[in-house]
Parts: sequence; structure tokens; C-alpha cells
Amino acid sequence: MLNTDGVPEPEKIRSVQPSAERRAQGPVVWVECFQEIPCDPCHDACPAAAIAAFEDINDRPDVDHDTCTGCGLCIAACPGLAIFVIDETYSETEAVLRIPYEFSPLPGVDEEVTLLNRAGEEVGTGTILRVQKPATFDRTAVVWVVIPKDLVTEARAFRRGEQES
Ligand code: SF4
Ligand code: SF4
Repeated sequence: MLNTDGVPEPEKIRSVQPSAERRAQGPVVWVECFQEIPCDPCHDACPAAAIAAFEDINDRPDVDHDTCTGCGLCIAACPGLAIFVIDETYSETEAVLRIPYEFSPLPGVDEEVTLLNRAGEEVGTGTILRVQKPATFDRTAVVWVVIPKDLVTEARAFRRGEQES
């Protein structure tokens, strides 16, 4: 449970998922921000105004998935590491998950990684597609990972170096 171990309940996760129709159109943001905290840089980071202005700084983000272009600029702006972009049109069997990443060293392109769910449990294997870390992202990189399409609702992190064991 979110309040005890930080893992959101399935109904909370479902409540913020983009629709299947929107997901089938290309990359789209998944904002998994469930707590009312004084924070709103996701709104400022969005050039498409897909994240509405906050009436109260403690509000949770109000996301319009149909307006979202999937640009990913909000990912590194979120101090809670709560924003992902997922592209389910990458291939017939695979999707691309963009993840905020604050560990060092960064992974390399084509590196195989162990995919983890929100509880840190292993759920499969992915492959690094791209690593973004421009100066404008400050200390947060955005890592693009190719994942099995059936893990789009599960995989939310990865671990390096142990998938060969
Ligand atoms: S992915 Fe881009 S368009 Fe979509 S909410 Fe984030 S910043 Fe806005
Ligand atoms: S920046 Fe992140 S933590 Fe802050 S309100 Fe937006 S999604 Fe939530």
C-alpha cells in the first residue's frame, strides 16, 4: 500500500493510466503521482499544456493524455521520479519505457538490464535503447528501455549487471 511501503494500490495505478486508444496512437505520459504534496514543476515543463495549471500547489496533476505529445520533457522535471513515457507502437511485441534515472554510472545503449516492478521485484529483461542527459535535465537522466509489451503496466525501473546470473 502507498501509505505503508510506498507501492501504490492497483486501483490507483489504473486510475492514471492512459486509455488503450491513446496508448495505441504512440508515446504518451504516465504520471504516477498519488500524494498531495507542494509540487508542480511537471506543469511548467510541459510545452503542450497537457498538465493543467495547479489551482492549489498541493493538488495532484491533472493530465490530458490526448493533448500529450509524448515528448518526455516532464520526466526529468519531476523531483518525485513519478513520470514515465511509454510507447506501445515500437514493435509488435515490444514497447519503449522512458524512465527517470539518478544512478551513476549510466547504462550503455544495447545493454541488457533486469526490469523491476514498483516493489523492486524482478519482472523480466529489457534492453537500453537511448540515454538522455542534457544539461537542462540537471541531475536526472532519462533512459529509454525496450521492454516486452506485456510489461507496460508493471516495469517501472531496472537493475544493471545481474541479468546474466
Ligand atoms: S510527455 Fe511532453 S507533452 Fe506529455 S505531459 Fe510530458 S511534457 Fe507534456
Ligand atoms: S512534478 Fe512530479 S511529484 Fe511534483 S506534482 Fe508533478 S508529478 Fe507530482
